Amino acid sequence: MNSYKYNPPKVFKKFFNGFIWESAIPEILFTFDDGPDPLTTPRILKELNNYDIKAVFFCVGENIKEYESLTREIISEGHSVANHTMNHIKLNRLSTKEIRENILSVNKSLENTFNYKPLYFRPPYGRFTFNLSKILDDFGMRNVMWSLLTYDYKNDINIVKFALNNYLRDNSIIVFHDSKKSADIILDSIRFAVNKINEKGFSIGTPAECLK
Ligand SMILES: [Zn+2]
Repeated sequence: MNSYKYNPPKVFKKFFNGFIWESAIPEILFTFDDGPDPLTTPRILKELNNYDIKAVFFCVGENIKEYESLTREIISEGHSVANHTMNHIKLNRLSTKEIRENILSVNKSLENTFNYKPLYFRPPYGRFTFNLSKILDDFGMRNVMWSLLTYDYKNDINIVKFALNNYLRDNSIIVFHDSKKSADIILDSIRFAVNKINEKGFSIGTPAECLK
């Protein structure tokens, strides 16, 4: 499956209704993909703390291993750490067995190092496969897609503003990145999102509330 423009089409959401596409309640969820990253994750954590926002970090297993203390910090700050594969690979390049092993290896590393059991998964590049629901069911996990892609990784604040101005809803799941690609604009992006949410009278929820 391809990734989509800012908000995936309705027919997709209906067909893959076992996946989570938007918040379960009228509260907005912030998510950050591809970290942890030593340049951006600490800044993001500080900014989220300022606003008292709890987010989901879809972490890459290799980064979890490389930046163990950052991963620990995400968890201790009360955010959710979720699985974004071990090596940020497109799932359609893997066999069912390989997908299973890839996801399990990230779970194991979180369990062994941090005694942490991740509940959520997001496929890199939004490319999911038909066998994914069954695999995640077996692990007691849910696939979390999104309803608002900010394209922050293009490192252009005007694109992020365009996305938020046009696609923000009261139940949006917003995708940002804690990655070097978005380093220049990520804090401004978060601030713009928070201001927009306040301006519209929307509110921000926690992972546990939004992903019921
Ligand atoms: Zn990613």
